[in-house]
Amino acid sequence: MLTTVVGSYPAKIQKPESIKEKFKASLGSYDPFRPALEQAVEDQVNAGIDLISDGQIRGNMLEIFAESIPGMYVEDHKPFINGKITPLSYSICASDIKNTLNTAKKISSEFKTDLDLFDGDNFQENFKGIKGIITGPTTLTLSSMIEGFYNKDKKEEVVMDLAWVLKKESEYLENAGAAVIQIDEPFLSTGMADLKVARKAVEIISRNLKVPLAMHVCGNLNEIWEELLKFKVDILDCEFAGQPKNLQILENTNLRGKKIGLGCVDNKTNKVESKEQVAEILNKGIECIGKDNIIADPDCGMRMRSREAAFSKLKVMVETVKWLS
Ligand SMILES: [Zn+2]
Repeated sequence: MLTTVVGSYPAKIQKPESIKEKFKASLGSYDPFRPALEQAVEDQVNAGIDLISDGQIRGNMLEIFAESIPGMYVEDHKPFINGKITPLSYSICASDIKNTLNTAKKISSEFKTDLDLFDGDNFQENFKGIKGIITGPTTLTLSSMIEGFYNKDKKEEVVMDLAWVLKKESEYLENAGAAVIQIDEPFLSTGMADLKVARKAVEIISRNLKVPLAMHVCGNLNEIWEELLKFKVDILDCEFAGQPKNLQILENTNLRGKKIGLGCVDNKTNKVESKEQVAEILNKGIECIGKDNIIADPDCGMRMRSREAAFSKLKVMVETVKWLS
């Protein structure tokens, strides 16, 4: 069984300290997020995670994208829409993907970009690679205040325009070496989202993508599970530790060829689970859908956790997976 993360990792922004860093800062080329990225990558690799992320250290999942997308802006960490949303001529996260890969390679030569996540219908054994993450068009739309250009009652137009922007970003990330693209759509479980429109948007992103596509949805999924299975994605990544009721929906389900990202450690507390607790969730998942259909990960991003807790949770998860294999 492979292991991954949902995405975000606790980040500490570092002011320039050394003479070299201070010199770079004076030229405007010092990146205060770079040490946090390297720390996030080192922790994931050292914990033994197979499919790692860049730690999403540049801000919350909304502002990372809204800050750069034409037609959007961010104030007090909240996104606003005030113009026509159009694709970018440059990538938002591709350089972080490249830095993630280079940092991971320094610690472990096993990290590569030429290995496919899937070997036929199964996960590739001994896979080590990078995940590219985008915030989903529906979640970005429903989290933003519409101030201009679009009609507040016609959110579908915003979702579709964002889908084209994010499709382009997915291609940038794929070219930068991402072995899988993950769309984060936590709003799909809130009851606020139009699931048909969300599905159409994901379908646009999936077109011509060469790497597998994953979608992360947290929260209680009982009401929307059948709808989620209709999305054109290879992996559905969900929360199970903090939402044990979600395990029931795995019983007698037809996955329609999809794999499940099985959230097995709780991202909402610093309390680190025991191996037995993680094993209980994984075993229930294995019982319902089989080991081959599972990739183990935390419930959601770990941005709000302490670095110690985040690392320990990843470590106990990896140890449990090894213990069960
Ligand atoms: Zn989540």
